[in-house]
Amino acid sequence: ADRPPAASRLWHPFSSLGGTRASELTLVEGKGARVRDKDGNWYLDATAALWYANVGHGQAPIADAIAEQARRLAAYSTFGDMSNPAAAALAEQLADLAPSADPMVFFTSGGSDAVDTAVKMVRRFWTLRGEIDRSVIISRGLSYHGMHGHGTSLAGIAANNAGYGMAPDPEFVRVPHDDAGALRRVIDELGPSRVAAFFVEPIIGAGGVYPPPPGYLTEVAQICRSAGVLLVADEVVTGFGRTGDWFASASYGIEPDLLLFAKGVTSGYVPLGGVIADRGVWEVFADATAGAFRHGYTYSGHAVACAAALANLRLLVEQDLLARAAVLAEELAVRLPRLAELPGVREVRCAGLLGAIALDTVRDPALPERVVRQARAAGVLTRVINGDSVQLSPAFVLTDEQLGQLVDRLAEAITAADSVR
Ligand code: PMP
Repeated sequence: ADRPPAASRLWHPFSSLGGTRASELTLVEGKGARVRDKDGNWYLDATAALWYANVGHGQAPIADAIAEQARRLAAYSTFGDMSNPAAAALAEQLADLAPSADPMVFFTSGGSDAVDTAVKMVRRFWTLRGEIDRSVIISRGLSYHGMHGHGTSLAGIAANNAGYGMAPDPEFVRVPHDDAGALRRVIDELGPSRVAAFFVEPIIGAGGVYPPPPGYLTEVAQICRSAGVLLVADEVVTGFGRTGDWFASASYGIEPDLLLFAKGVTSGYVPLGGVIADRGVWEVFADATAGAFRHGYTYSGHAVACAAALANLRLLVEQDLLARAAVLAEELAVRLPRLAELPGVREVRCAGLLGAIALDTVRDPALPERVVRQARAAGVLTRVINGDSVQLSPAFVLTDEQLGQLVDRLAEAITAADSVR
């Protein structure tokens, strides 16, 4: 083709460094909690890719399950009334693991799909129930709910929303992420018969890793319950072991009406997501006439993705990786706070095996980017979240020694990056 040469034809519209564009980093191989680039450099993967490689990289049983399913039957999903054994078995297992009594599983292709599915689901739910005014959806500041239309509007990250011709939806209302009283006031002001659902990430992830204040989740669950508002837990990041339980909802003692998952369901080996709906929701659709919920994706319940998920769940159980995540989380909670003493660090936050180091960007706006670059040079792969914080969400197969290295090298990177100011 007659076109100018380019270093790469991959379009990267924004940088994971938070600020200026980085050069492309081409990864070719992964083993456990480490990945290797094309030049042979190994990195400790501080983020388990985008919060998802929970069982670590290079797990042969998942690769084998993918290959086996692809050879038998690859190209069929659960769209419409189709099924396949892998999808059916996975739905059965997820129903057993979910923090609800009698759930059904609706598969999507990823997390953003799960969020937009849930928005449509809750609005349709209330329409079928004859409560057509119950259309307002409440979400939390700093929350992240994917990149699709509804999810972007719901999320509390304004930078993702402006300039795409998406008018702020007056039916989407945001409350401060840490204030259960604000949720109660908004519901009271609007009148409970106006509010369809409250969307909540049990631990805010991409918005900066903000753990819920003590008692927050049980309180908002109670507020929703008493106002008849559906509770939707977005567990795309927190699901499948990050908190040491299968779902953070269980860790924090809530039973959401809808639970959204993706990422960790396959440890990211192939894309898959979905919505777990409790009986109170799905039976309203079951009673309705055909066409009650005309929604689904080409790759909903894709056989290869579901086979990978089954192998992933088996690994989590056989290698006791939820318990391992809990041990690592305790260790992180001991080691990470020491970094708060470093010059340039504003605060550290952690919950489960999720952490963030918030840097002083008032004094030095470019510090997060320099820290991430410095960390990469020292063999630790991480990224900037929420403009000012460095992400930690390693794989559950991280060794004790690797956890030590991770925290030490990040501390060194912060010190080095701060001193070149
Ligand atoms: N919800 C949450 C809480 C997420 O963190 C993400 C992705 N980071 C999504 C939804 C969207 O998932 P996906 O990128 O798979 O569409």
